[in-house]
Amino acid sequence: MATVFFPCVDPIFPTEPEASRLAALQRHQLLDTPAEPDFDGIAALAVALSGAPLALVSLVDRDRLWFKAHAGTPQLEAPRLGSLCEAVVAHTPGVLVVPDTRADPRFAHSPQAAILGGMRFYAGAPLLSPEGLALGTVCVLGPEPRAFSADQVATLSSALVALSRQATALLLLRRQRLELQDTLARRESDLTDLRVLQSALTEHEQRLARLTSQVPGVVYQFHLRADGSCSFPYASEGLQAIYGLRPDQVRNDASAVFPNLHPDDLARVTQTIQQSAEQLTVWDCEYRVCLPGRPLQWVQGRSQPERLADGSTMWHGFITDISARKQAEQQLRERDTVLLQAQRLARMGSWRWNSTHKHSEWSEETCRLFGVDPASNVVADPEFTHFVHPEDAERVMQVHQAALAGESAYDVQYRARRPDGTERILHARAELTRDTDTGQVLTMVGTVLDVTERVAAETELARHRDHLERLVEERTHELIVARDQAETANRAKGEFLSSMSHELRTPMNAILGFSQLLQLERSLDTRSAGFVHEILRAGHHLLQLINEVLDLARIESGKLSLSPEPLPLAGLVGEAQALVQPLAQQRHVSLSLGPMAGLVVRADRLRLKQVLLNLLSNAVKYNRAGGTVRVEARVQDLFSVRISVHDTGIGIAPQSLPQLFQPFSRVSGTATEGTGIGLSISQRLVAMMGGRIGVDSQPGVGSEFWIELPSDHLAAAPPPRHVLPATATAAAAATAPPPQPGRKARVLYVEDNPANLKLVEQIVSRHPDIELLMAPSGSLGLDLARSHRPDLLLLDIHLPDIDGFQVLARLRADTLTRDMPVVAVTAQAMPDDVKRVMAAGFDGYMAKPLDLPRFDALLERLLLREPPAEA
Ligand code: ADP
Repeated sequence: MATVFFPCVDPIFPTEPEASRLAALQRHQLLDTPAEPDFDGIAALAVALSGAPLALVSLVDRDRLWFKAHAGTPQLEAPRLGSLCEAVVAHTPGVLVVPDTRADPRFAHSPQAAILGGMRFYAGAPLLSPEGLALGTVCVLGPEPRAFSADQVATLSSALVALSRQATALLLLRRQRLELQDTLARRESDLTDLRVLQSALTEHEQRLARLTSQVPGVVYQFHLRADGSCSFPYASEGLQAIYGLRPDQVRNDASAVFPNLHPDDLARVTQTIQQSAEQLTVWDCEYRVCLPGRPLQWVQGRSQPERLADGSTMWHGFITDISARKQAEQQLRERDTVLLQAQRLARMGSWRWNSTHKHSEWSEETCRLFGVDPASNVVADPEFTHFVHPEDAERVMQVHQAALAGESAYDVQYRARRPDGTERILHARAELTRDTDTGQVLTMVGTVLDVTERVAAETELARHRDHLERLVEERTHELIVARDQAETANRAKGEFLSSMSHELRTPMNAILGFSQLLQLERSLDTRSAGFVHEILRAGHHLLQLINEVLDLARIESGKLSLSPEPLPLAGLVGEAQALVQPLAQQRHVSLSLGPMAGLVVRADRLRLKQVLLNLLSNAVKYNRAGGTVRVEARVQDLFSVRISVHDTGIGIAPQSLPQLFQPFSRVSGTATEGTGIGLSISQRLVAMMGGRIGVDSQPGVGSEFWIELPSDHLAAAPPPRHVLPATATAAAAATAPPPQPGRKARVLYVEDNPANLKLVEQIVSRHPDIELLMAPSGSLGLDLARSHRPDLLLLDIHLPDIDGFQVLARLRADTLTRDMPVVAVTAQAMPDDVKRVMAAGFDGYMAKPLDLPRFDALLERLLLREPPAEA
């Protein structure tokens, strides 16, 4: 740069390059920036080299001078116009040296010099940008004018130029640094953009993964390259479930997949892929995948191929597990097979009629039934009429129409004609499906059953039935006749039983009666008394046998009727106990009762007592001397009460128990006298009363005989008791009017049997205060009763002219005899007879054979008019 000394400088500055200069200044971004040591160093060096007190690194802006470095002055800027620095810039590359500004007319009024405190000396070199544009100056100033030699000017100029170059180098460095910073900033910004993109990509991938994780199976891209290699550039996590491989394992090479395909399907899969690649058609394939340790899996793959620029093929699609569907299809097929088999076996086909097409689709079996090839299973309506017998066609049509109209169900039987001319009888039924909105019939689904054989069988059956009905009618008639005969026989049996009772007891009355009288004879020697005793013992045994056999016979023949009623147990068991007590005392057995108050059973009073007596007397009979018998009763369950008779007797061996309730079964070795009928009667009676009987026994220890009877409750006060034979006699005697004083008591005995008359005559003769009148017929008895007004009338029931009941009725009808005590004396001693007698209005009952002590007691009471004794 040449040093220019400006003796005279044109003040008009060229403006042409000014714009690019200002632009360059802006680019350097130096204006209004903080001080920088490098530039400050240049200013300090300029002061040192020039000896001037001020040095500046100035920048010439549009309107001002701005000092990047300012040694010796705190001032930062000065006006541009007319300034020395402006002049330096304008005359670049010259160096301006002004020894005395005041002396130089160009700068005498320079605002720069004025502002800087009246500077007189100035020397400045232009500050060039690296491109060579003058941006400002490196200048020195002083308040005193200076005088320079030419050498000094040259030295100063060189120094300023050198400093200016230094500043230029700084500028370059600074600009490079700025550019670097700029580049770095841009890089940073690019990186930020990249990061944003990266995060967007990650989010995108995550979203895709989330979406595909919800898609059943795997979503994938499959790439088939020209060289035949393949890969899955993208596969969702579902790949693991389908192929047992992670997506990253097949990202570059898909070959690991193929060994997992079922060997039978592999060729088909590869062939369809090939075909899809060639024709660019959708790949859609179902195949099996076998993974070790997993069940065989059916999958379906479906993807769209796309030819890439390099000639390779890329598919986009999915593969999903269809095992469940395949299984369902398999089951459906099996069910179809079963259905077809069932239809074939049942000979029942199915059909479906379509209202739109007016045709029916037939199942295989239906085709078979109509004798057509299963391939032609769609039959149009007009065609169908050919299959129906002409006589049935209209009826079938009517049923069809009625079903369509909703009037009746589709249910019709008709004759079908097959193409081969054979005929079958078919029964068709169907159900309709309708459009839910319009109600129009859409389809009719039905069955058709071959009933040919059944109809034939029914016809045959009807024939047999008619025949059978005729037979039944005949048989019924015969049965009615037989029943009538049986009823007659039964009646005869009843009558037989009744007369048996009478006929057997009548002689027994004489036997026992006279034996009893004999027993009372004092004149009898011991031997004869022993004979009489034996006759009596055998007679009583025979009588008991007769009673029980007759009882059993009545039960067996259904002749026995019971009158169940609510019975309080305590009283009834007490009565039975009292009756057995004498026997117990005789055998030295003690009898006791458990608590049973409040227990009520439903039973026939007489028969229950009979059963209790049987059990109690057995318990005493088969006991040991000093033994005990205890009767207990308790509620068994909601509906029954159990009465138990415990004894400490001989017990019964287990093997004898099953026969115990059979008639005439006595335990072998039983020494005690008995008939072996009592328990069998008891069992039948208990069963007739709706109960059960049983036994638990231990030989040598004792037995427990128990009965269970339906429980009941008392509605009101218990009904009045019938007077039983034993008590009846006492009651009858008690009601007798007292005999007239001074007159013998008079007893009238109406009886046709001479032996009996004789017996009673003998008995009464032992009572001197009693006068006995006897009548052998009913009518005579009535006459005697009226004429002699006896104190007691003993009346036989079986009389030759009028029976005892009629005699009683007439006595009661007559005022003279109305209140006369009448006691029935009869061999008809069945319990029902007793009931009948008491119901007829007799005052008492005395069974034949007569029990002498009891008869005596009756007579005694008649004479003494004792109050009735308890039985
Ligand atoms: P009977 O006592 O007149 O022989 P039952 O029918 O009442 O007829 O009894 C049948 C048999 O059962 C009796 O002969 C006896 O051998 C046996 N038996 C009945 N009750 C008892 C009892 N309490 N202890 C032992 N044996 C009994």
